[in-house]
Amino acid sequence: MFSKLFGGKGGNSPSVNTSGVKIHPQVDNGVRAGSSGFSGGTLTCKCSDNPVKVTITAQTAHNHVCGCSKCWKPEGAIFSQIAVVSRDNVSVTANGDKLSIVDPSAAIQRYACKGCGVHMYGRIENTGHPFHGLDFVHTELSSDSGWSATEFAAFVSSIIEAGTDPSKMDGIRARLRELGLEPYDCLSPALMDAIATHIGKASGALKA
Ligand SMILES: [Zn+2]
Ligand SMILES: [Zn+2]
Repeated sequence: MFSKLFGGKGGNSPSVNTSGVKIHPQVDNGVRAGSSGFSGGTLTCKCSDNPVKVTITAQTAHNHVCGCSKCWKPEGAIFSQIAVVSRDNVSVTANGDKLSIVDPSAAIQRYACKGCGVHMYGRIENTGHPFHGLDFVHTELSSDSGWSATEFAAFVSSIIEAGTDPSKMDGIRARLRELGLEPYDCLSPALMDAIATHIGKASGALKA
């Protein structure tokens, strides 16, 4: 047991077989680079009639795949793909009457289409929240190309909560690394540092 837990090869040894491991349709064939001059596009829900449209007038940031159970994901995917953009650059431009908030008590208010279930954007109304001012969006809902590239994988262990067999985790983490998406079981260090900075400044422990 000791050697199984502490000895031998690590969980991400090159011998881990990653063939057939699917993460998300947007990254399974390799991560696409963003375009430096890109300045936004339109997200469209999956309704064939009267789709909801959300117009974004800026490039996104911190694009990542997410293993949490709250983010919307396409049929069959074990991860969602999500990015942030300033809320000032997000507006509902068609059929907004079809939107409703998935869970009004959640920190992130996710606006979903009542017709197809797709989440069109997530917004934080609590002005004290570290990410207040940023909306969460799924750029796969856009036919425009040039959105910021996927950078990392967040909340990877959480996919077990949604039913992924724990024995598959070595292969999934190895595949994420193969794609250049460092797997984290929370958010990336940059985002965790941003949260901690906000909290430290709010408490006064961290001098501005
Ligand atoms: Zn819809
Ligand atoms: Zn998530």
